[in-house]
Amino acid sequence: MGECNVVPAPENFELFYAYAAGENPGVTQVIGAMVAAKKPFTPEILSDLRMRCLSGARAARAMDTVGTGMSQTIDQVLVKLEAAARHTEAYSSTLSAASGELSAGQSPADLRKLVEDLIGATRAMESKTKALESELQKSSDQVVELRGALADVRKETMTDPLTAIANRKAFDAAMDAALMAVAKGDNVSLMMCDIDHFKKFNDSWGHQTGDQVLRLVASCLSENVKGRDTAARYGGEEFGVLLRGASITDAARIAEQIRLAVQGRKLVKKSTGTTLGTITISIGIAQFKAGDTAESAIRLADACLYGAKQNGRNMVMSEGDSRMVTLESTAA
Ligand code: GH3
Ligand code: MG
Ligand code: MG
Repeated sequence: MGECNVVPAPENFELFYAYAAGENPGVTQVIGAMVAAKKPFTPEILSDLRMRCLSGARAARAMDTVGTGMSQTIDQVLVKLEAAARHTEAYSSTLSAASGELSAGQSPADLRKLVEDLIGATRAMESKTKALESELQKSSDQVVELRGALADVRKETMTDPLTAIANRKAFDAAMDAALMAVAKGDNVSLMMCDIDHFKKFNDSWGHQTGDQVLRLVASCLSENVKGRDTAARYGGEEFGVLLRGASITDAARIAEQIRLAVQGRKLVKKSTGTTLGTITISIGIAQFKAGDTAESAIRLADACLYGAKQNGRNMVMSEGDSRMVTLESTAA
């Protein structure tokens, strides 16, 4: 890691441990090729590798454990049900035999014996049914536990490990749901946010402090969206927010709140207590229109984000903003 100029952070250790141990073919192949070609390990490449190889492998292992547990529980339930069916069949044969004996004109003593046998068989059946009930209850508890584990795995595959907000996969899923809502006539707006001069910040203070900034921005986003809205890390230092039920005016108000929240946070380097100044973000927003696709909506919000950057940064720019027109005509 030293030779490759990789910051000795825990998440990078995890990646290089997987490489050294040869336990993950994807990691071995990519890191091996990069080391051989002496290519630099940028934060984007490291984060992408972690997301694609490590979180995927972790989720697959967890999914495997849940799957095995689920199939063992199903097997146990089937064995119990088969035994129950056998007991019921035996009990039913006992009843049929008794009914045959009844019609044969028996003495009171024989009848008494027959009734006692029937009571005994019924009691035995009752206790077997009780035992089955309690066994099935245990299986049902196991299924509830496994379902919880499955929900945890699902949550992990949808969460960005660095910032703990939704990841790109979750954003894409939320985008599909948003497009369906738009088709039904609902208002939905999209916000694309990008940290201003983040490269300079990383260069001055290091990537670990840069990562702290990513967490700070993510927390401002999740504090300012609610309900069915989705705030996600779209990639690197870009965030996407889907606002359900929000017109472009609502979205502009929320975006301004977020911009101010980020600007208002004081950033302090944990190790030294040094104040690192303020962080700002630029935001572009667009409202979905009928017939929009994920690509067309993202393209428009991205163009607005570009407009905000060109007009001085630390700014929210909505589609149709007159400053965008200036920008477009300048570009032309
Ligand atoms: P602008 O205001 O135009 O957006 O300038 P910028 O410097 O933010 O933009 P640029 O796209 O040139 O740089 C993005 C930087 O984001 C480069 C990279 O160092 C940083 N970055 C991307 N992902 C991560 C990450 O996971 N961790 C850290 N610390 N930095 C990251
Ligand atoms: Mg960027
Ligand atoms: Mg940036």
